Amino acid sequence: MTTASTLRRFGTAIPKGRGIVVSALHPASRSARTLFPTRVFDPHEVDRVLKDGHQSRKIGKTVMKGHRKGWPIYTLTLEERASCPRACAAWAICYGNNMQAAERIVHGDALVHRLERELADLQAAHPGGFLIRLHILGDFWSIGYVGAWREWLDRFPALAVFGFTAHPPGSAIGGAIMCVLRDYAERWHVRFSGAPNEFMAARVVEPGTVDPDAILCPAQTGATDCCATCALCWQSDRSIAFRPH
Ligand code: SF4
Repeated sequence: MTTASTLRRFGTAIPKGRGIVVSALHPASRSARTLFPTRVFDPHEVDRVLKDGHQSRKIGKTVMKGHRKGWPIYTLTLEERASCPRACAAWAICYGNNMQAAERIVHGDALVHRLERELADLQAAHPGGFLIRLHILGDFWSIGYVGAWREWLDRFPALAVFGFTAHPPGSAIGGAIMCVLRDYAERWHVRFSGAPNEFMAARVVEPGTVDPDAILCPAQTGATDCCATCALCWQSDRSIAFRPH
């Protein structure tokens, strides 16, 4: 029998405060790179760019509740900062600063071609549905890349996506992401980090404070095990609040 504790390989880490902060003068900040360049791989160097959610502490392998129960979860991890908007509020405190082991995939055309092949395989293997978490690290790097996801939502009816972006809805890339949200609201659950209000945002709230317009991520409070046992991010339009990592 599958139990919640077998859904991901690593235990839940309750956040206790800020992790590693990269100064503005650090080469990783100035050149928009990860702190761990030996953990960056071209798509052809890895077996799959879409990883089983079981490998991620916070994600989990299979959806355990709600209307997508039983769907497998996969993740995509890009290089933090290299694929992100420079204005990201978490540029210095990126979660990736604490994720030395994560395998980051180089973004660009080769990744888009590889994603297309892997998504076609997943559509064939899971015609009842599968979920992709974008992006464990990194972000949408171009309007064209957002457009590729739009096309894949059209071509692969079993595909659903959840995740976060640092692009504001009023920016060019953020606007493209918002358009996908309008047209594929049932299968595209990408929240805007730092955006105000109670609709499809994600915000960091300091310990001891409450965001009345957002639901505190239950995995961070210990109320649930991981995304697979929570399902809020793809079942609710409400904004989600997170404690600092
Ligand atoms: S709210 Fe739920 S689905 Fe969203 S990140 Fe937290 S645990 Fe995962």
